[in-house]
Amino acid sequence: MLTDKVAVVTGASRGIGREIAKTLAGEGALVIVNYNGSAQRADQVVREIKEAGGRGEAVQCDVSDFEKAREFMEYVIKTYGRVDILVNNAGITRDGLLMRMSEEDFDSVVRTNLKGAFNCMRHGARQMIKQKSGRIINISSVSGVLGNAGQVNYASSKAGIIGMTKSAAREMASRGITVNAIAPGFINTEMTAVLPDGVKEGAAAQIPMKVFGEPKDVAAAAAFLASDEARYITGQVLCVDGGMAM
Ligand code: NDP
Repeated sequence: MLTDKVAVVTGASRGIGREIAKTLAGEGALVIVNYNGSAQRADQVVREIKEAGGRGEAVQCDVSDFEKAREFMEYVIKTYGRVDILVNNAGITRDGLLMRMSEEDFDSVVRTNLKGAFNCMRHGARQMIKQKSGRIINISSVSGVLGNAGQVNYASSKAGIIGMTKSAAREMASRGITVNAIAPGFINTEMTAVLPDGVKEGAAAQIPMKVFGEPKDVAAAAAFLASDEARYITGQVLCVDGGMAM
């Protein structure tokens, strides 16, 4: 159980982040449901958390902005006095072949996915060090592990998350803070719903289990890594991918 823990989940207005937020709240954590543009959907997630007897608050922040991320994490720490769990889940895709990829599509994906995770860790770590405890969970991707045609920008950001996770884990292991990554495969969310049917079928064929996963599959892994039981696990990349990256 995560009773009385304070958890921040970035990009929790929908998809995987939404499910992680609801799962952590179901285990007793007070959950900050971060979003960037989807205020109504984030409010709905908080409503569902409260209806289930949990606690949470929706807080807007574009995590790709260093100063805004600082204000966000400072707000959480000032309001709730601590931060026990940080799940860096906010992410975007701007797929395209290398030869045609614009500078803006490269920069925006790296800024949101990689720098966004850095920003929240950078501004949350001091409090965790003060507490001598903390759990950081960064959402990577099988694209970052294996590479993926059409995702030079996204795979770079997700591979970067793995290097960042292992480095931060080494820095903070002796302070009682664990830092791990989850690398989901294809998961049924709005991010994958936009893929053409042919691409989806091709993707499913590459998955040993032959089907896409669900957000709850990733949420269960996040809840485990956030738990006391996972206290001796750090610097790891847990693939939740139906066997894709084995
Ligand atoms: P969705 O597109 O469904 O949701 C993305 C979430 O990120 C939304 O809540 C969105 O909020 C938020 N977000 C985007 N940009 C920002 C920002 N700058 N600041 C704060 N929040 C932001 O994605 P998924 O749920 O599918 O993916 C979640 C994570 O899992 C991502 O990191 C993704 O890369 C990763 N992943 C997903 C896989 C999949 O198959 N679905 C596979 C592997 C990894 P808002 O709407 O308010 O902008």
